[in-house]
Amino acid sequence: MLITDADDTLRGLMRTWRHAIHAHPETAFEEFATAELVAATLQASGITVHTGIAGTGVVGVLSAGTGGRSIGLRADMDALHIQELNEFAHRSQCEHRMHACGHDGHTAMLLGAAVHLASSRAFDGTVYLIFQPAEENEGGGRRMVEEGLFERFPMDAVYGLHNLPGLPVGQFSLSPGPALASFDTFEIKIRGKGGHAAMPHRAIDPIVIASQLIGALQTVVSRKLDPLEAGVVSVTSVHAGDTWNVIPDEAVLRGSVRAFSDDVQRLIEESIRSLAAGICATFGATAEVTYEYRYPKTFNWPEQTELARNVVTEAFGADGLLAAPRPLMASEDFSYMLRDKAGCFALLGNGLIGSGLHHPRYDFNDELLGWGATYWVRLGESLLSPSASDHR
Ligand SMILES: [Zn+2]
Ligand SMILES: [Zn+2]
Repeated sequence: MLITDADDTLRGLMRTWRHAIHAHPETAFEEFATAELVAATLQASGITVHTGIAGTGVVGVLSAGTGGRSIGLRADMDALHIQELNEFAHRSQCEHRMHACGHDGHTAMLLGAAVHLASSRAFDGTVYLIFQPAEENEGGGRRMVEEGLFERFPMDAVYGLHNLPGLPVGQFSLSPGPALASFDTFEIKIRGKGGHAAMPHRAIDPIVIASQLIGALQTVVSRKLDPLEAGVVSVTSVHAGDTWNVIPDEAVLRGSVRAFSDDVQRLIEESIRSLAAGICATFGATAEVTYEYRYPKTFNWPEQTELARNVVTEAFGADGLLAAPRPLMASEDFSYMLRDKAGCFALLGNGLIGSGLHHPRYDFNDELLGWGATYWVRLGESLLSPSASDHR
């Protein structure tokens, strides 16, 4: 049973928070109003609040009983640089900013759980409510860890939750081991020699070289990688020239790499570097490759994943769990928290219809608010159950 089945007020509150955050999206490290809403709501429930962690990050500390056990529950607060195309009343009021990944819903669900736990206090120990900034691209999770999240708030384990379109509402995907891929970026500057479009023999055309290289990059995964391993190389941006009759000096390719193992990550990086250098040299151009390791893979700790799976089946029945969860090639900066601390990251179905994450018509499904808040509350109550002494 959902906690909101018996608490209409909480359901209404979560909806109101979600819509307010959606209408006023704030991007990486600028989540000022969102963090203020979070801090004020936690404070009003009697929860001790710490602000200014990783800039706009907020941590609420809620203790009950005398037990020394503790868990961290984490939500992300940031929006994306996307122009929203939805027309409903709570659509974004800000140009080119949008909650297209559902972090508005994640924040509202964890706030709902915090309010419920603060009033029930049906647990023995400490719940740390972590609201992090800048999940998209900027690694707010890493900054929180670097700024001493786990030293200042010593928790036994940490848990994360993200909505997932394409999975039925209320179904959880929880798998031990690698759950999400690592995320790297690359940029290749191809330096040729510009000239007149009518006299290509006097130029070194970086656009033709770029097109050869884009084709060659498709062979990294198909020809270099063990077919039983997983990896992605996507060229996502091509920039060169700006008129009809001039061959430019330079072309710039950018893209994204995903992998589940350090070996695959290294193989892909080396292959990109050697293909870029080799193909450019063949045509008399030079390549400057910048390769950045952004987010590590998200690794779910087996013991904590099993505990979370038990919480889901106890709270929602066996149907609450996706039968054969598979890792996703998407990435998360929660990976930084799971690198330093035991825990697990769950995906929760946002429904089978509607747009995907990062789409200008995406919207977080309000039905999920009850499911997510219930998961958080039951996780806290179960792992810090007054009757169990050795759970973590
Ligand atoms: Zn996202
Ligand atoms: Zn997200």
